[in-house]
Amino acid sequence: MPAHNLPFLPFARPTLDETMITEVADTLRSLWITSGPQVIAFERALSDYHGGRPVRAFSSATAALEVALLTIGVGPGDEVIVPAQTFFACANAVARTGATPVFVDVDPITRNMDLNAAERAVTPRTRALMPTHFAGWPLDPSALYALAQHHQLRVIEDAALAIGSHWQGQRIGSFGDIVSFSFHPNKTITTIEGGALVFPDEREAVIAERLRFHGIVRLPDGTRDVVVTGGKSNLPDVNARLGLSQLARLDEFVQIRHTLVGRYFERLQENPHCSLPCRGDDGHSWNFFAPLLALEKLRHSRKQIMDTLHQHGIGTGISYEALHLTTRYGTGHHPGDFPHAERIANSTLTLPLYPTLTLPDIDRVCDRFIEVLEEAAS
Ligand SMILES: *Cc1c(COP(=O)(O)O)cnc(C)c1O
Repeated sequence: MPAHNLPFLPFARPTLDETMITEVADTLRSLWITSGPQVIAFERALSDYHGGRPVRAFSSATAALEVALLTIGVGPGDEVIVPAQTFFACANAVARTGATPVFVDVDPITRNMDLNAAERAVTPRTRALMPTHFAGWPLDPSALYALAQHHQLRVIEDAALAIGSHWQGQRIGSFGDIVSFSFHPNKTITTIEGGALVFPDEREAVIAERLRFHGIVRLPDGTRDVVVTGGKSNLPDVNARLGLSQLARLDEFVQIRHTLVGRYFERLQENPHCSLPCRGDDGHSWNFFAPLLALEKLRHSRKQIMDTLHQHGIGTGISYEALHLTTRYGTGHHPGDFPHAERIANSTLTLPLYPTLTLPDIDRVCDRFIEVLEEAAS
């Protein structure tokens, strides 16, 4: 039964209200449209939200991760430990510095980096751990920082999916080493494109600021010097203005996500054809909701299931493919190397979740999803 006049529900969608649109338009009308006062205000607001720690904004989290690695001096000959199942940017950011991403398996329940596997992967060349807080559920920071300290490693937390998450009441980003956020439209708050780094001290924030903008420092005589090989990954003011109003609604967005996810759990918990993600506690910010399909019990492939749901007006996604089986990063790796990462990558399906969805929308997704799974199982 095709979804005649029901609206299409994508798996992710930004929440933009008319006030935000007016504020962005006002920023354009001000004619100061690239980095300026709005970026400074956005960085200050992000810093306030994260316990006053130094923050710098970037044009994307991908750029931010690369700058973070360069800031701590990662380069050729170094190794950085990355989960085998996370977004491509994590491996690319490491490789673009000249260092080698070393993959490790993920925990089958939390889908976060397996810290025992990470410990086994440490070599004399290892410089940093770069775990992702998967889907918004934090990787246990006490275990993470104990491991880092024991081996004298830096940590770059990929919190692209975890703004608004907390661990035992402490916000991700408000403690620890360098923490990276993304403001891509699929993330919990958006600046269209954009990212930010939170630093343990102002000294490294200043290094990152130079790497972000041509390696420039200003001299007392009014001229400029170039002191490092800088790039260009600054965030424009237009984007920062949107970020400010998005950040003001972050806690509300996370709360709605909890309510919607609660309904997914009610409706799908007992379903024998899929297994639900780690539920966590209220520290989970639920950037996305991705059950694993019990494909071994189903006649239809994931692609067929996705296509059928699409015909019913329901968008789905895959978060994410296994990094060690990609063409670029597959050298020396084989299927079976990281079984949990591979099982998740092969069976994960991201269902619609964003703050403008309603409980009846979630019911509609669940009705169709359950139906499609039953069809695939028969
Ligand atoms: C989105 C994402 C990134 C990259 O963010 P961009 O702002 O799109 O560059 C990095 N890591 C993870 C886990 C992500 O989901």
